[in-house]
Amino acid sequence: MSDPPDPRRAELAAALTAVRERIAAACTRAGRAPGEVRLVAVTKTFPAADAALLTDLGMLDLGENREQEAVDKVADLRELRPDAPVRWHMLGRLQRNKARSVVRWAAEVQSVDSVRLARALDRAAVLAREAGERTEPLDVLVQASIDGDPDRGGCPLDTLNMLADEVARSSELRLRGLMAVAPRAMGPGEAFGSLARAADRLRGDHPAADELSAGMTNDLEIAITHGSTCVRVGTALLGTRRLASP
Ligand SMILES: *Cc1c(COP(=O)(O)O)cnc(C)c1O
Repeated sequence: MSDPPDPRRAELAAALTAVRERIAAACTRAGRAPGEVRLVAVTKTFPAADAALLTDLGMLDLGENREQEAVDKVADLRELRPDAPVRWHMLGRLQRNKARSVVRWAAEVQSVDSVRLARALDRAAVLAREAGERTEPLDVLVQASIDGDPDRGGCPLDTLNMLADEVARSSELRLRGLMAVAPRAMGPGEAFGSLARAADRLRGDHPAADELSAGMTNDLEIAITHGSTCVRVGTALLGTRRLASP
């Protein structure tokens, strides 16, 4: 007996194909191999049932930007697809008092923007290992603020390497690279160009930190032109979000 066709599954499958085609076309134009760019599906505001369908379609890198929403969704997805080897990415602003919780579910935190947060995550990851909740170090991207606006999160570019040094020194954190969101007030070409130079400086000090997470639904092509290795896509995969995420 086969399952009845699921219209949402078909919708997500078509959207995933379209996004993969956009990534492949952008890579070709940039003279890069499509395998160089990872896709993280941003499931924020969408239910765990959608995340489950995405895993059925082979999407195992999933991202959330609010800790509490993620805790619930991760638990729900574990019930729905206990065997799916999902890697959850934390993408949003994180308060230090959530560190102990986020290390229970996230494989990677892409939004580390201060030394104090890095230290809190390291301590939390040590405790999680001792409690048997983790076996691997926490992968970390330091989040850059391209325009230096402190209200929107991210570390100013001139102190980014100091923050990266702190992450690299931490026993339970693994520095993987850099993440940023293009500021609204700046053209994406200029913004991602400036980010690419910051990524070069970071690799100068930390050659293994070669991830550059940049590009979302509206700007992934420009980000790939400027060397992105990870695009984080919500709207183009799952549809327009009804609730605004802060
Ligand atoms: C919501 C979000 C995304 C995805 O944005 P879309 O424009 O829906 O693709 C990517 N990165 C972060 C940090 C986000 O909060």
